[in-house]
Amino acid sequence: MSMFRSVSRRVLLSLAASAALIGGGAAAFGAADADEDSPPQAPSATLPGPPLIDPTPDAPRFHRIRWRRSRALGLPFAGRLVRGVRLPPEGRDFFTWDPVRKRSPNRWWRRYGHDRLIRTLLRVLRELRAAHPGVPRIGVGDISRPRGGDFGPRFGSIGHASHQNGLDVDVYYPRVDGRERRASRVSEIDRELAAELVDRFVHEGARYVFVGPATGLGGPRRVVQTLAHHDDHLHVRLRPRPGGR
Ligand SMILES: [Zn+2]
Repeated sequence: MSMFRSVSRRVLLSLAASAALIGGGAAAFGAADADEDSPPQAPSATLPGPPLIDPTPDAPRFHRIRWRRSRALGLPFAGRLVRGVRLPPEGRDFFTWDPVRKRSPNRWWRRYGHDRLIRTLLRVLRELRAAHPGVPRIGVGDISRPRGGDFGPRFGSIGHASHQNGLDVDVYYPRVDGRERRASRVSEIDRELAAELVDRFVHEGARYVFVGPATGLGGPRRVVQTLAHHDDHLHVRLRPRPGGR
């Protein structure tokens, strides 16, 4: 049954891709992740949106990262991402979490970041777990869309004001019970491990780490700042570099 449904889904996606092609859309496409929908299309007056169909699908159990040198253009609130790197749906040290559907994995088009951000993120999560063998994988939420740009409410839930140039990522606090899902209450957060996670991003030179006011988390005041709507996840922003590198 599930195989039939999966095949039907692919047929539908192929039809959608054909329609996009007829309409003058993406020139190259392949099969999408079987479990993922197309994102809302960007208004034609603004920056081009992501392709309807993912050109480089995540093969099950084979989460290869296609590294390339990215550029972060503009600002976190008004910018875009060139040659973004897509985070796989899961890895040895992390799972991804869809903040709109409240489930794992996150959809493919919400997982693009600057290569420097993706490397920093993976290094922090790898080192955190190496320092604490046996701790659960950490949840990674939204990063940017494939070409960055608007990630506002039309992409679900309250959306993001920033997350536009690939230098922002949401990371879920580890849970005391070790379950791989978001902590919906601060009492569910493993405070000690979460504090170390914050410290490690600070140590990596993050420009900002935003944490929720009820979490009790902190750090150097110029970097670690409290922000509403961050009691279930922290938000890391890397410093921009000249030329968007
Ligand atoms: Zn965020």
